[in-house]
Amino acid sequence: MTGQSSTAGSAPAGESIVDWYAAAARDLPWRTEGIDPWAVLVSEVMLQQTPVARVEPVWRSWMQRWPTPADLAATPPAEVIRAWGKLGYPRRALRLREAAIAVAERHDGVVPADVAALEALPGVGTYTARAVACFGYGRRQPVVDTNVRRVVARLVHGRAEAGNARAADLADIAALAPEDDARAVRFSVAVMELGALVCVAGTPRCGACPVRDRCAWRLAGSPAHDGPPRRVQKFAGTDRQVRGRLLDVLRAAEEPVDPAALEPAWDDAAQRSRCLDSLLADGLVEQTPDGSFTLPT
Ligand code: SF4
Repeated sequence: MTGQSSTAGSAPAGESIVDWYAAAARDLPWRTEGIDPWAVLVSEVMLQQTPVARVEPVWRSWMQRWPTPADLAATPPAEVIRAWGKLGYPRRALRLREAAIAVAERHDGVVPADVAALEALPGVGTYTARAVACFGYGRRQPVVDTNVRRVVARLVHGRAEAGNARAADLADIAALAPEDDARAVRFSVAVMELGALVCVAGTPRCGACPVRDRCAWRLAGSPAHDGPPRRVQKFAGTDRQVRGRLLDVLRAAEEPVDPAALEPAWDDAAQRSRCLDSLLADGLVEQTPDGSFTLPT
């Protein structure tokens, strides 16, 4: 089954998903008509591993403070890490600043529209490059994230789960897109939204799905997932949690922090030390000549 196929009397799947989106889309600030591609890039980097509800307030204050790549490029890393707040995976903040510097230096301060040029920016992978070209510049592009892969797995291939990323994912989603370019751009965000709101991980809400009568997984009787179980990421007790606690202390401090002041952040000295080392290696923390720790200057 391809997305452009349709059952008697029904529109192709891609068209139905676009129509559904018109009524069901969440009102998110980075989806505003005519949004600056820089704002899209910032949102996509923040959303890579963080839910919308946590991203939105940070994105708003970030865009107010650094409305252009040049503004961010001129900012010391410590301020950028502070502004990243509790979004998690803070290396993204440094990479976004490096991308802003590259845009300022190589592209006259304007985020490029070309996917290859976007992919050449620090921290910008295939997904983010295509998302910026599509959502920021209105270019027809297949954009595939985890949510989209799950929709494709079920709708097109009749599988309960997406499994590992496949080279064919881009072609699958391109085949589902409407022919009209403007609607194809709309489709890229619409299918992502379908995966986020309806065709969700675990039990999908098929009763609310605009393509339920054409879904290969439903037509096959909704077979159970027969691959390896999905890994659920834990957080408590992980190095990620410890790194976050250590960064919290440094973010709150106006001056470099004595190592003893980091001890209350985590009891296990070996884990605390390992995490501090990894923060130093990642460039998220610096050590001063007297042995104190600080955010990078
Ligand atoms: S019918 Fe259900 S499984 Fe199929 S695409 Fe829609 S929500 Fe996903």
